Amino acid sequence: MRIACIHAHPDDAEILAGGTLALLAALGHDMTIVTLSAGDCGSMIQGPDEIAAIRRDEAAESAALIGAHYRWGGFRDMAIFSDDPSRRAVTALLRELRPQIVLTAAPSDYLADHEAASQLVRDACFAASIPNYTTPSGSPALPAIPHLYFMDPIDQRDRGGAPAIPDFTIDVASTFEIKTAMLSCHRSQRAWLQQQHGMDDFLKQMEDWTRARGTQAGITLGEGFRQYKTHPYPHRPLLQQLLSAYTSAGKALPG
Ligand SMILES: [Zn+2]
Repeated sequence: MRIACIHAHPDDAEILAGGTLALLAALGHDMTIVTLSAGDCGSMIQGPDEIAAIRRDEAAESAALIGAHYRWGGFRDMAIFSDDPSRRAVTALLRELRPQIVLTAAPSDYLADHEAASQLVRDACFAASIPNYTTPSGSPALPAIPHLYFMDPIDQRDRGGAPAIPDFTIDVASTFEIKTAMLSCHRSQRAWLQQQHGMDDFLKQMEDWTRARGTQAGITLGEGFRQYKTHPYPHRPLLQQLLSAYTSAGKALPG
């Protein structure tokens, strides 16, 4: 199955879904990790093009650890907006990747880029299946809207500070080591996050969040997801079924 994980910046996918991506890759699925931006604001020292090139390499190295592809969506930091050209660009990307499952950012999150990425991907999933909706690349429409999932927001809280409640949690204990190795590839971000976000150690912070999500589901290490099931997006719990051995939903999944 083709699966696309599309978030705003390099390291978001690893922090929020790295263990789940590693599980899916180990099952043999065709995975692509997309960052809409290459993270050109993520440095106090290097200029935007220099740090973006470094971060694209780091993201590609991380994706390669699980045999996934990496793509940059062509956007800049703090410049992701849900507008007409951006929606057509993300739609073109989806039509090229042709995923059956899409994982993206939470709709309410601490950063404007995350929320815009979420909205763009949500709406591009719908647009990608409409033949008369054109894109510059001219790729053919998808046969159906992909199954769409939202990752947790950063810190598992929405923009108003309320706890984000996932539909289900994936047990990532068996892939936590590779999740850590993937995030470790983002070497340029350690100093930046210390300075800008007051984060002493982003690996420890990621572990704390993953443990907190796991504890809430009665396991040790977890990643939370919500399936977007608003009409007419597909309702079938496809991701939950692919990872049924690792899914803590608190309710039985239809077969
Ligand atoms: Zn981000």
